[in-house]
Amino acid sequence: MTICSSCPIVVVGVPSDANSSFLRGPAAAPGHIRKALHSPSTNLCAENGIDLAARREWKDAGDLPLAEVDEREVIERAVGRHLDEGRRVVALGGDHAVTYPIVRAVAARNPELTILHLDAHPDLYDELDGNRFSHACPFARIMEENLAVRLIQIGVRNLNPHQREQVDRFGVEIHGPTDLPNLADLGIAPSVYLSVDLDVLDPAHAPGLSHPEPGGLTTREVITLIQKMPFPPIAADIVELNPERDVNGLTAMVAAKLLKEILGRMLG
Ligand code: MN
Ligand code: MN
Repeated sequence: MTICSSCPIVVVGVPSDANSSFLRGPAAAPGHIRKALHSPSTNLCAENGIDLAARREWKDAGDLPLAEVDEREVIERAVGRHLDEGRRVVALGGDHAVTYPIVRAVAARNPELTILHLDAHPDLYDELDGNRFSHACPFARIMEENLAVRLIQIGVRNLNPHQREQVDRFGVEIHGPTDLPNLADLGIAPSVYLSVDLDVLDPAHAPGLSHPEPGGLTTREVITLIQKMPFPPIAADIVELNPERDVNGLTAMVAAKLLKEILGRMLG
């Protein structure tokens, strides 16, 4: 697939689950999200009225060619190239480990970055099962390298003592599922990265997950958070869809819906 040089927004598949701790599966997610996005059961309109089918400012660049040996370098370089060419990037994971190399590329070009991180889990482990690049660790690596000035986590609901220590160590701002913020009240600066781990949703809304955590957000609550971001994100990811665990493609459809809303914000 070719990329038109005038497209200011690019969607990139990042088919990686090499750093998943429990189940594989998310590497196959990008194709399932694309299939749901283009399903004749719906259309390509975001709720703000932006019709993605009629807009030429975005393009799907296909999947990155990843080999497990150097995938972080490939991801960081590919995202960096898009950013250098003036594009916003929406990455379709893959598991959450892909966020660290993506944020490295974004932060190198946007030093005052705020990260909005929607997830059941804080993903702040220093290491998990001996892997410092596990999908349970990306935000520890990001904060150690000072890649963000603020990390705002929303929907987190299974902090253990180690992760509570990491929250304090890195000054992470946490809003649990019963404490959803009005994003307009948080004083968020314009350079925003949005990371959506689909397990922020209640498994009733999104069953196709490796780590379902009951008691989560509704699809509507996540859509509202995206719509109420004070600024559209510079770049974003949607991660952790596990198609092998999905039911009737429901979670893929949720991911496609959130993709439409993110693209609608970028174009709105
Ligand atoms: Mn999670
Ligand atoms: Mn996560």
